[in-house]
Amino acid sequence: MESRGTKRGAGKIEEAEPWNKLLLPASSLPTDPALYVGPFPFYRRPSELGCFSLDAQRQYHGDARALRYYCPPPTNGQSPNFDLRDGYPDRYRPRDEEVQERLDHLLCWVLEHRGRLEGGPGWLAGAIVTWRGHLTKLLTTPYERQEGWQLAASRFQGTLYLSEVETPAARVQRLTRPPVLQELMYMGYKFEQYMCADKPGGSTDPSGEVNTNVAFCSVLRSRLGNHPLLFSGEVDCIDPQAPTTQPPTCYVELKTSKEMHSPGQRKSFYRRKLLKWWAQSFLPGVPNVVAGFRNPEGFVCSLKTFRTMEMFEYVRNDRDGWNPSVCMNFCAAFLSFAQNTVVQDDPRLVYLFSWEPGSPVTVSEHRDAPHAFLPTWYVEAMTQDLLSPPKTPSPKD
Ligand code: GDP
Ligand code: MG
Repeated sequence: MESRGTKRGAGKIEEAEPWNKLLLPASSLPTDPALYVGPFPFYRRPSELGCFSLDAQRQYHGDARALRYYCPPPTNGQSPNFDLRDGYPDRYRPRDEEVQERLDHLLCWVLEHRGRLEGGPGWLAGAIVTWRGHLTKLLTTPYERQEGWQLAASRFQGTLYLSEVETPAARVQRLTRPPVLQELMYMGYKFEQYMCADKPGGSTDPSGEVNTNVAFCSVLRSRLGNHPLLFSGEVDCIDPQAPTTQPPTCYVELKTSKEMHSPGQRKSFYRRKLLKWWAQSFLPGVPNVVAGFRNPEGFVCSLKTFRTMEMFEYVRNDRDGWNPSVCMNFCAAFLSFAQNTVVQDDPRLVYLFSWEPGSPVTVSEHRDAPHAFLPTWYVEAMTQDLLSPPKTPSPKD
């Protein structure tokens, strides 16, 4: 492994060869919010290209079988009383977090749909493919003070793929997660069970198991500045009563948070949590986040809907608040940085972008294991296409 920038000559040599600076991509990217203040960049209205589901065994299905239906309790003046700790740990089947899935499920969808992507056959070659969650982390980076990240990047047939790598610190945190935190994670999923039915017009069933292997993922197309994007994100539910039934506008994100009792608690909620909620839902164009506020005993006694497009209003006049333009401008700058760094087209070559709070993003080069993340089945199937291009589908197909 070789770290970029470590082989640079002393300043004197660089002065003698100023062309170096013009030809070499930058070796790091700063993240200070002040550097990204400016107009909001272009962001194409996200459109849904398709979806897929993961079942109770974490198996992929190219359909919406895992999609659930928003089913809030009746608004008859009574408050909800959801016991989020019910079923823990007996009716909890947590996903095995040791399994590093990387982009695999998304690549499965891309492989299945590559011949009929809107934007034409060349569109994918100019796009960035990643998970929504990775883009969320980029959006919040200028304001993040606790958790760093690592993103692996490879170029293949023109497309830039971005896949997160668990940092050593994140791994330690996960393996030593205190029992209260494990229960809090469960409570977030339990809330979904109280708020969702398996069928439109159906009822909720809080007596069942909470199995976090199950997921419904929407696959979206957008563009940030000049970066076409294909990304996928897990969607909690669809609102069958939404004004429009067109995804992603009919989707609802569900969240839980601690009940707030003081102005200080609210301020901190707007500054930290709403930033994460906004970034996660703004990217795929999910218009509403329904929050369940839990008391210290773990009961949700109140619900509040936050409109994604109005979340910024809570911090607009806060000097220590966040700014959507900064988030999006930084993300655009990172995507340009990655595009300019990952020049060679080679699925076995990986650039690892690393970031820790208080430092700029740095990059190192790697080949093959352990960082290469594009699976052989994907690379081989995509390469076969070039050798024997698929026939133009006939109207009968
Ligand atoms: P999110 O925005 O962070 O929830 O992540 P995405 O919606 O982009 O999810 C992408 C994929 O990663 C889906 O298959 C999720 O089920 C899965 N996923 C979500 N959260 C986690 C996590 O904390 N760890 C791992 N390994 N996978 C996750
Ligand atoms: Mg959620």
